[in-house]
Amino acid sequence: MSESLLHTYNRFDVTFDRGEGVTLYDTDGKAYLDFFSGIGVNAFGYGYKKYTDALHAQIDKLTHVSNYFYTEPLMAAADKFTKASGMDRVFFTNSGGEAVEGALKLARKYAFIKGNTNKTGIIAFEHSFHGRTIGAVSVTGTPAYRAPFGPLLPDVSFAIYNDIDSVKALVNENTCAIILETVQGEGGIHVADKDFLAEIREICDKNDIVMILDEVQCGIGRTGKMFAYQNYNIMPDVITSAKGIAAGVPVGAFACKEEFAALKPGDHGSTYGGNPLATAAVSAAMDIFAEDNILDNVNQVGAYLYEKLEELAAKCDHIKEHRGIGLMQGIELDIPVSDILKECLNDGLVLISAGANVIRFLPPLVITKEDVDTVINKLSKILS
Ligand SMILES: *Cc1c(COP(=O)(O)O)cnc(C)c1O
Repeated sequence: MSESLLHTYNRFDVTFDRGEGVTLYDTDGKAYLDFFSGIGVNAFGYGYKKYTDALHAQIDKLTHVSNYFYTEPLMAAADKFTKASGMDRVFFTNSGGEAVEGALKLARKYAFIKGNTNKTGIIAFEHSFHGRTIGAVSVTGTPAYRAPFGPLLPDVSFAIYNDIDSVKALVNENTCAIILETVQGEGGIHVADKDFLAEIREICDKNDIVMILDEVQCGIGRTGKMFAYQNYNIMPDVITSAKGIAAGVPVGAFACKEEFAALKPGDHGSTYGGNPLATAAVSAAMDIFAEDNILDNVNQVGAYLYEKLEELAAKCDHIKEHRGIGLMQGIELDIPVSDILKECLNDGLVLISAGANVIRFLPPLVITKEDVDTVINKLSKILS
């Protein structure tokens, strides 16, 4: 407990001290299997040598110089990120929320330079989550997250996820951007339908609307491809990234196709954004994905987790639905899950919710089938 912290989180009663592989240890030395990876951040678990070596080397060389200068890690990370995503230009931020802010600014500027000063409308989705800054909160589909902080960004409307008619009903000549998660995370693990994303792409093309995919949670290997939209036959105009992008160092990014690179010198900036320590971590993470077959593991172990959760859902009456893709899955229960999660923690298993009734599985991307078996055994005991 700390009376010095602003009480914005109801934290679990555990103080973590160190990690090794996919295991966390608290200050009493108790071990916990980590199936949450710090909200999908610690892609390679803990103490992954290639990653920690790269960070140590960069700390010894240089950690910060500001964006008035180039550094090698910055340029390397930008090249690797744009190559992996199919985007042309990237701006590194310090968090996902800031990435969303940047993407929204970029979309507004894109319409602005076309001389269309009324084209400021943004369509977002119910149950979406885009972060806690004022702009990001404005497009977040949970009313409780918005209510105390108004007035927020104007001209934002909310459609229903996977319901294309609800989108069409909101589109007009002043719509500037449509922003959505390719897989909704905080809102309870909802995967976008193929037709739905294809039709959004078509609407954006027809009306010169910027299509922004928020890949902060579902990107960076989580779904078995580097980016979740690569499971679909479409390209977004702008993407946001964060969480797993630097595997544990605070980094985010927004990136765009050349045609949408509307931000010019003076339009946007960040003191820390893309600093050499941060981008050395991005660069190392991208190398590890390429060299160590991380995506193969996500696909294999993700399919195994899917199968095991289907089996668990079939025999447990409290599980209403099982959803997800790769190592981003969830089970929706007909009861609140907070007590179940506390029991898991007592039993040495770190799991977290997405909303009140969904248990969310966001393990490090390096977990094994044996780790899945351990989780399923513990969980089925607790649920029965
Ligand atoms: C977590 C998250 C954010 C916000 O990221 P922060 O780093 O917490 O600011 C934005 N979008 C999505 C989809 C997220 O999951």
